[in-house]
Amino acid sequence: MKTLLLCSDLDRTLIPNGSQTESELARPLLTRLALHPKVRLAYVSGRDRILVEQALTDYQLPVPDFVIGDVGTTLYRLRDGAWLLDPAWQEHIGADWNGLEQGELDELIAAKEVEHIWLQPPEKQNTFKLSYFTDPDVERSRLIEEICTILEANKVAANLIWSLDEAENLGLLDVLPASANKLEAITFLLDQEGVPQQQAVFAGDSDNDLDALTSGLQAILVKNAAADVRREAIAALTEKQQQSRLYCAQGSLSSLNGNYAAGVVEGMLYFFPELLDWIEGG
Ligand SMILES: [Mg+2]
Repeated sequence: MKTLLLCSDLDRTLIPNGSQTESELARPLLTRLALHPKVRLAYVSGRDRILVEQALTDYQLPVPDFVIGDVGTTLYRLRDGAWLLDPAWQEHIGADWNGLEQGELDELIAAKEVEHIWLQPPEKQNTFKLSYFTDPDVERSRLIEEICTILEANKVAANLIWSLDEAENLGLLDVLPASANKLEAITFLLDQEGVPQQQAVFAGDSDNDLDALTSGLQAILVKNAAADVRREAIAALTEKQQQSRLYCAQGSLSSLNGNYAAGVVEGMLYFFPELLDWIEGG
């Protein structure tokens, strides 16, 4: 058996922090899977390093080989407990920002006195991630257009992602290099590690996983995913005649309901049935 790389989102894909229930055996079986000598594991998450480490502890998730974190702006290799930031990935995404880094981009935006935004704390920033809070009811499209105009004038190719923190009632705006996204980071990692696409699988649950779920990579959508995400993923792949690349977990294995890690295990067995002996031998 050749090396397999499982790339998985964390929140509501492996971490059971949604409203659906988790099967008792879900994470133990995922851990068993990760122990297979030919299986390597990458977490792909919006979380920063501290929050990924916290999730590993709080939810007893298997320690991964790689972490693509901070919404795709960091790629770490984990070796003997050390987290090594991949400089090649930094260089790859840094090219989009025309030689500028987070602080310099903020200065450009601040110089134009853009209203209704203020910086998030330092731990939410990194070299290629500039993150602001915004008023929750800010006129989003105008704000984004205003910032894009400033960035374009400075030849900065950026991707702006706005979301709402409902608990805090605050808008969140991330300014990222145009190529810093989950799909591009996964493709880069496969390339660097020499893992062919047919030996890789991506697992996710939500909107921000759609690019990777519908890219033509083998992919798993966990059962607890929202219905509209499932519809959109299937529609996009049907159009490309690549429906067979996506496995939607159904809860078809005994004592596994298809939600969260149970769905990921189910999907891995669908794509790689040869793993069944290993799982059952645990
Ligand atoms: Mg998620």
